[in-house]
Amino acid sequence: MSRYTAPLADLRFALYDVLDVEATYARLPGCAAATRDVIDAVLEEGAKFTEQVLAPLNASGDQEGCRFDPATHEVRTPKGFKEAFGQYVEAGWIGLTADEKFGGQGLPETLGAALKEMIDAANLSWGNYPMLSHGAASALEHHGEDWQREVFLKPLVEGRWTGTMCLTEPHCGTDLGLLKTRAEPNADGSYRISGTKIFITAGEHDFVDNILHLVLARLPDAPAGVKGISLFLVPKFKVGRDGRIGERNAALCGSIEHKMGIHGSVTCVMNFDGAEGWLVGQPNKGLAAMFTMMNTARLAVGLQGLGLTERAYQNALAYARERLQMRALSGAKFPDKPADPLIVHPDVRRMLLTQKAFAEGGRLLGLYAYVQEDIRKHSTDAAERERAEALVSFLTPIVKGLLTEAGIECTYDALQVFGGHGFIVENGMEQYARDARITTLYEGTTQIQANDLLGRKVLQLKGVGLKHFLAEIGAFCTKHADDAALAEFVGPLIKATKDWSDITLELAQRAGADPEEIGAAAYDYLFYSGYVALAYFWVRSVAAADASTQSQDFRDAKRRTARFYFARILPRIHAHAAAMKSGASTLLDITDAQFG
Ligand SMILES: Cc1cc2nc3c(=O)[nH]c(=O)nc-3n(C[C@H](O)[C@H](O)[C@H](O)COP(=O)(O)OP(=O)(O)OC[C@H]3O[C@@H](n4cnc5c(N)ncnc54)[C@H](O)[C@@H]3O)c2cc1C
Repeated sequence: MSRYTAPLADLRFALYDVLDVEATYARLPGCAAATRDVIDAVLEEGAKFTEQVLAPLNASGDQEGCRFDPATHEVRTPKGFKEAFGQYVEAGWIGLTADEKFGGQGLPETLGAALKEMIDAANLSWGNYPMLSHGAASALEHHGEDWQREVFLKPLVEGRWTGTMCLTEPHCGTDLGLLKTRAEPNADGSYRISGTKIFITAGEHDFVDNILHLVLARLPDAPAGVKGISLFLVPKFKVGRDGRIGERNAALCGSIEHKMGIHGSVTCVMNFDGAEGWLVGQPNKGLAAMFTMMNTARLAVGLQGLGLTERAYQNALAYARERLQMRALSGAKFPDKPADPLIVHPDVRRMLLTQKAFAEGGRLLGLYAYVQEDIRKHSTDAAERERAEALVSFLTPIVKGLLTEAGIECTYDALQVFGGHGFIVENGMEQYARDARITTLYEGTTQIQANDLLGRKVLQLKGVGLKHFLAEIGAFCTKHADDAALAEFVGPLIKATKDWSDITLELAQRAGADPEEIGAAAYDYLFYSGYVALAYFWVRSVAAADASTQSQDFRDAKRRTARFYFARILPRIHAHAAAMKSGASTLLDITDAQFG
């Protein structure tokens, strides 16, 4: 039976000792309510909810999956999911970070992120339902008209309704410029939406009475490609401008997918057959509006990778301490037992340390991005807001790309620690490995994160976010230049950031001569950037631990894990650098026919 204990000590260390969120929130208008007492209460109550309500539904939800009734077009979610959502709403979790004027609690996004990591670790499938609602609420808040916010946003924030994101069509996933769903105007200002969307998470379910679909579609005479896409709000049950619920809309679930993982998260084919919808934002500017939702969701999917890493690690560690196999190479460590536990073997330790390093380092990277998001939203200083916005935009593909890919690596390593028992369903490890697989695919594949990072955030936007991030690392290294206790990390970090800078310049030059160089280098650049970013957070962890009142064991553990990270994970950047330096020709020279 797989276990989960919320990592409260490390979350507190990350929030208070490393990121010092108390000081940030004390000075940011609108965040003053987030005192240590409130943060601790959210963490503790969140831990109880995720450990006691969500975690026990994880394996049963996976085995039972969702059921579709073609006669009614309705979906039944696994036993207990609906009731858990009721408890979540009742406790006020759903509106934790939403604006108070729409019925939320107005707490910082970083707190929502800490809660989200716990939710995803406890039950990734269940977590998708509130995640989509949160994204839909964010798109409506920023792009909806006043009446739309009044009528649609409040029920979302209060958890009476949920939301979806309807982009994908059978012939278009990554390339949304190809989408065909149509929107024709009605005389009353509404639109008739027609088309088929596939792979729609939470498109139909039994949690609540109404579902709000945010749908990308084309107006008549819209320009071809991404410049002709508009965003529409299409409710499952029609809703008048006065908020009155009307008849069933022609937006029906046609079937549900049978998937490799996240069985409790329903994935729907949605048929829109002249369904009533409302334009959100400006005509033909739908993609930009949808990006509000996608960016929120991309950071959130990064947290899914992190949550799975943490949970898989906890279980692998417990197993490595209990399972007795073979003796340590240097002689028995537990001579009173028939064999030593797995944890004595160096390569089992390598796998455990890899998971620990990604879980704790990744937690800091993720939370740091959310702190920047809070600064972007609340700071009164325009320059500070601009810097935070550039940092969030730059870090989003890194958080999404690295933490989800690490989630796959770590869930596989955790399964490996269990040996053959990891392959057996009842131990729970294979579910994590299956569930992790989707995180590098939806909300933009890893390749799309990589192209976004190098092509857009670094080259097109002239690397504004990267420059801020490098400057911050540089300032940290300068501050600690004479700190003997950190010397073993600061030197290599300075070298890695200098190389990161150099390689970025080199790629910019090569891309000027041949744009294929961007696509050829992007994947390696994403990992390169991610590993250096994690190195920075590992040094900050060691510095913060040393300066804290944490126990000697805690501090030693941080330092030793940082050593492992610098010695055995960070050097992966050299392989990525070599791949980037080899240039596009190593990928493009071979002809289509020569692939065989
Ligand atoms: C379980 C699940 C839930 C989902 N939930 C939703 C949802 O709620 N709403 C929604 O709208 N969609 C959803 N999706 C769709 C998901 O976002 C898409 O599957 C994803 O964007 C990829 O699109 P695709 O599957 O069509 O792959 P394709 O676009 O066909 O891509 C195939 C491969 O080619 C690569 N590729 C494509 N273009 C490039 C390029 N320019 N450079 C490098 N590589 C490239 C991709 O990375 C990928 O590896 C979901 C999918 C699944 C499986």
